[in-house]
Amino acid sequence: MIIVMKMNATDIDVERVTDRIVELGFRTHLSRGEERTIIGVIGDERQLSREMFELMDGVEKILDVLPPFKLASRDFRPENTVIPLNGIRIGDRRIAVMAGPCAVEDRTQMREVAHAVKEAGVKILRAGAFKPRTSPYSFQGLGLEGLNILAEVREEFHLAIVTEVITPEDVPTVSKYADALQVGARNMQNYPLLHTLGANGKPVLLKRGLMSTLQELLMSAEYIVSHGNYQVMLCERGIRTFETYTRYTFDINAVPVLKSLTHLPVIADPSHGTGKWNLVAPIAKAAVAAGADGLLIEVHPHPSLALSDGAQSLKPETFARLMAELQAVAQAVGREL
Ligand code: PEP
Ligand code: MN
Repeated sequence: MIIVMKMNATDIDVERVTDRIVELGFRTHLSRGEERTIIGVIGDERQLSREMFELMDGVEKILDVLPPFKLASRDFRPENTVIPLNGIRIGDRRIAVMAGPCAVEDRTQMREVAHAVKEAGVKILRAGAFKPRTSPYSFQGLGLEGLNILAEVREEFHLAIVTEVITPEDVPTVSKYADALQVGARNMQNYPLLHTLGANGKPVLLKRGLMSTLQELLMSAEYIVSHGNYQVMLCERGIRTFETYTRYTFDINAVPVLKSLTHLPVIADPSHGTGKWNLVAPIAKAAVAAGADGLLIEVHPHPSLALSDGAQSLKPETFARLMAELQAVAQAVGREL
């Protein structure tokens, strides 16, 4: 942290600021220029609140030197974090595809999807049993019954399961059924949930909030990682912009930006990111080309009958075609599928 003093700051003002820094257990580096004095704070500035200094007499502004996230940063851990899941090493060379319906609807639907995605080469099945819906009148998911269906399908098809958890209280139950727990966009800043998942230790798929910055996403990841659980995947799933043609705007920039800022794997969700099934393939390819470590894709055997997100769900045939087409894109950027 760097504290820039006002032009008219007195020696007493400077002394008060440096004394406060020392009192807090940090060291200072003073630079007296012709016009102003600049005070460098030596130590981990993340433990300091800028407001504390902003309000002191003679202080003009505060500049942060370090990003506010630490353990999740690439500076802290230069090599990619790799998360093993059902034979796939997420974050390594191979692109991890997680596919399945938005929600678990019934046993037949889940068996049909599981069969189809497995045929297409997928090892990780996604589907929600607890659905955080915008409207309280929309289908809220099958809850425990849905988890039981997921457990059966996992057993029968040897697929890993990613499913959402929406409250800290549900974490122990959902983690019995899930190989990775999803935090939905609407819960990205549910800090009690993030703490519980950090302590729980299972892999977490953390989705970016609809209106969250990448720094906020990384701060949420930091909550989980701060418990020692480094198995966190960050998911770009589109953000709200002024554009209304698509459901959200998939932020392709997020992929290379996150890859440079953090060692955690980056997953792209072109289904929620576009809201339209016919845009899923081009955006999935763009995300792989941009460096995504994985994809989250909604697939439904009968999208027109889906209880949620049918408009963005691929039919199994369309999904299989996309998987084949992605091979070439992955290869072009030195990855494999
Ligand atoms: C989902 O993955 O089905 C979902 C609800 O996603 P999001 O939280 O990104 O809206
Ligand atoms: Mn969905």
